[in-house]
Amino acid sequence: HHCSAQHLDLFPNKTYIGGKWTDSLSSKTFEVLDPAKNTLLGTVPDCNVEDLNLAINSANSAFQIWSNFTAEQRSKVLRKLYDLHVQYKQQLAEIITHENGKPLRESLVEIDSSAKSYEWFSEEAKRAYGDVIPSPAPNKRFLVVKQPVGICGFITPWNFPAYMIARKTAAALAAGCTVVIKPAEDTPYSALALCQLAEMAGLPAGCLNVVTTSRSNTAQIGKALCENQLVKKISFTGSTAVGKILLQNSASTVKKVQMELGGNAPFIVFDSADIKKAVSGLMASKFRNSGQTCVCANRIFVQENIYDKFILALAEEMKNQLKVGHGFENDVTQGGKIVMGGAKCDILGGNFFEPTLISDVNNDMEISREEIFGPVAAIMKFKTEEDAVRLANSVPVGLAGYFYSNDISQIWRVAEKLEVGMVGVNEGIISTIEAPFGGIKESGFGSEGSKYGMNEYLNNKFICMGI
Ligand code: ADP
Repeated sequence: HHCSAQHLDLFPNKTYIGGKWTDSLSSKTFEVLDPAKNTLLGTVPDCNVEDLNLAINSANSAFQIWSNFTAEQRSKVLRKLYDLHVQYKQQLAEIITHENGKPLRESLVEIDSSAKSYEWFSEEAKRAYGDVIPSPAPNKRFLVVKQPVGICGFITPWNFPAYMIARKTAAALAAGCTVVIKPAEDTPYSALALCQLAEMAGLPAGCLNVVTTSRSNTAQIGKALCENQLVKKISFTGSTAVGKILLQNSASTVKKVQMELGGNAPFIVFDSADIKKAVSGLMASKFRNSGQTCVCANRIFVQENIYDKFILALAEEMKNQLKVGHGFENDVTQGGKIVMGGAKCDILGGNFFEPTLISDVNNDMEISREEIFGPVAAIMKFKTEEDAVRLANSVPVGLAGYFYSNDISQIWRVAEKLEVGMVGVNEGIISTIEAPFGGIKESGFGSEGSKYGMNEYLNNKFICMGI
């Protein structure tokens, strides 16, 4: 416990552009609500394109400074950001629970993950190695150097208000890029808290800018960010539909883009699986953040011989483990009394949904085609491995996939055949900063976190020297 700690301003009514706390030039604001109580948390500036352009210009000036810091200097600032996340962990987590509604326990985990992003990339900052390539000509020498791509625009969702920003920002700053963030309109306060920490960490003004924007201004801000020539990269986490719009908007300036879009994760349980482990993996994967992560198990396929046993075991666990309620209450995992049947909870202002178990689902139902993004487990029965793989791959997206099996040959076969960017084998929780996070197909492209995440913010420059 740090007695000397300054208190963060949890709900500032200004946004952060060019190292200054400012209003929108339009003087307009919008309201941010606590989703569990529908009460007002505060108001923030409703930025327009003029405000965005100020932010981009600040990021542009700051780029000249930040990209010329040595890797070690950048590393030190990022390390400080890590230390500050540890120091202010409790307040940062409270901000998340206020603006997003998730249980405080999960918000604390999210701040841990965010902190680790800054720690990891403070280390990677020093390892942006290039290459020396053997030359085919006796009078030439070949080098590849890594250079920061430039100003990066981030558009981020509400489900992880801190971590989705941390994973991008830490990598970008480590590489020497500067950043303009448009946070989700429901959850701007985690982004603004980061700005307060960045000031304390000594990040130069203009390296990190936030444009808080209401839903009604979002489309035009998004378009202006994508079409601005000074912005060299867009990284987006959100829905596939919005990702497609941003890709189109980025075409006119041939911008580098990174897309972390929706998933529809298959979760396959083969006959050979350890049912207990599979149930507990499913509980973790399905109900974390009330089923509102893009890697949550979405379609659950269970092989016929263990189907009935599995459903009984899962229903039992759901009854025992899940509790609906406000994020600041103890032991809350989601929302009311646990029945296995899907309705809105009548407590908490109607914004919560009961944990729900649906069996006998088939592949034609809407629940199998769409990302559920909620605490609803829908179970399908399958006969053979080929069926399971075909069903798993039958959607246009491919982010995460999970399966439980104790047959080593089957494990290799299925891990290789699943059309996803990340596979959990006998494991339901896979996201961690040390490993690459990202999807294929309409789930997007590019890796976040890991040694690969850094490269997304670096250009390869080839230097051919005649000697
Ligand atoms: P979600 O379903 O998670 O809200 P969205 O893709 O709608 O997914 O939102 C993710 C982020 O994209 C949010 O910051 C939101 O404000 C932003 N967004 C939504 N629509 C647009 C748009 N047309 N252009 C740019 N950004 C958008």
